[in-house]
Amino acid sequence: MKLKHLEMILQRIAGYHHPRAALEQYQTPAPLAARLLYHALMKGDIEGKTVCDLGCGTGVLAIGAALLGADCVKGIDSDPQAVREANANAALLDADVAFFVGDVRDAALPGCLGRCDTVVMNPPFGAQKAHADRPFIDLALSIAPVTYSIFNAGSTQFIETYTAERAEIDERVGGVFPIKRTFSFHTHDVQEIEVEILRLIRK
Ligand code: SAH
Repeated sequence: MKLKHLEMILQRIAGYHHPRAALEQYQTPAPLAARLLYHALMKGDIEGKTVCDLGCGTGVLAIGAALLGADCVKGIDSDPQAVREANANAALLDADVAFFVGDVRDAALPGCLGRCDTVVMNPPFGAQKAHADRPFIDLALSIAPVTYSIFNAGSTQFIETYTAERAEIDERVGGVFPIKRTFSFHTHDVQEIEVEILRLIRK
């Protein structure tokens, strides 16, 4: 499948019906999701692999991984409504993904999820709750040797320091995340946030 084709398919994924600001529920736009997934595919991290999407929301990254030929895909989110929406999106696109309700801070989660090859994620950036992204990074590094994650542009240094002994960043791809006016504190119809996709390799 070509990148453009993947992007077109992912455009069909329905967004959150009732997005929750406290959980930083912003669906990754199809072009950015496709870019992350296609990059991972080219690196050999998707096809035939077990892939896990942490904070899967409506499922765009997990569903895309399944459509690109991952062997087994799991997605977890703490919001049961998001998981229902992810299941509906997977059915719409005929993607085989096991979605679960779960909180990344739950110490039992690594045992439930089991080992996987690749984590793909767009965690909360910590705008509503400081350091909300940290348990995502911790869990990702505990279950998979390779992680692709979207962060605010300029986060690389923090991530490097935070993961110091545990991982190294071996690639960084810049991108843009257009955020449509969703919550009452949004002051623009669309605001473009500069982001970066980091590939973390567990040491
Ligand atoms: N990965 C999706 C959603 C990104 S928004 C996408 O790319 O479109 C971040 C998601 O993380 C939200 O769906 C939110 O419900 C979820 N989330 C926030 N805190 C969480 C936690 N502690 N455990 C699991 N999921 C969480």
